[in-house]
Amino acid sequence: MQTRRDALRSLGILPFLKSKVLHSGLLQFSVIRHGSSTRRYLHIHGNEATAREVLTEHMATQSGVAFLANNQQRNFAMGGMEFDPNRVWSHLGASANIRKLNPRISEAGFLYLIEELDQHREKLLKAILPPKNGLLIALHNNGQGYSVQDEIAISDRTSLADAANPHEFFLCTDPQDYQILAGSPFNVVLQNKVPPTDDGSFSRLAANSGVRYVNLEVALGNKPRQVEMLNWAEKNLPI
Ligand SMILES: [Zn+2]
Repeated sequence: MQTRRDALRSLGILPFLKSKVLHSGLLQFSVIRHGSSTRRYLHIHGNEATAREVLTEHMATQSGVAFLANNQQRNFAMGGMEFDPNRVWSHLGASANIRKLNPRISEAGFLYLIEELDQHREKLLKAILPPKNGLLIALHNNGQGYSVQDEIAISDRTSLADAANPHEFFLCTDPQDYQILAGSPFNVVLQNKVPPTDDGSFSRLAANSGVRYVNLEVALGNKPRQVEMLNWAEKNLPI
């Protein structure tokens, strides 16, 4: 039965009653919880505004839990130092990323950052990762410098149904999800093997831990396509 709250929510009048913030160490996410489902959603780069908008609107009708970066920049910053929130999901990846983005960092600064990230990683993952067999969908936006072409060489399988639009693609970690997505009119790559170098990204973590993960990449600003691809995945991938 539809409640008054559901009716208002579907009209966009009362979008997110159960919204709160997940604080853990240096990372903060706004949390949107709607209904009950094993679906999880992640928006990790604060400057990817199209993905934030698409996911926020999606959660008005979709059941599950969404985590949205609680800042407006790509990187999280702390006392003049910064790190990419999609490179901190392993100790190795986080260390390399801190060194790369802060070439003149002091040893004390480095230790502070890496210890904070190491200390809170498990807790964050416990909150964000879906229950067993659940699906995590991450939404990203890219610019001119990145497309599906950059992923082909390091992917296990590739289907380019929309090769003319290389900025729009799915990257997934589960072979069965890949089979389904490869039947879509969109580009998709599968990365399910443990890669030689762990860059600390969420997709590597998911592949390493056997988590069903789908990364939805669309050019910044191409909201209609991101909505279309998200809806396709939602309708066709099993819960
Ligand atoms: Zn991103």
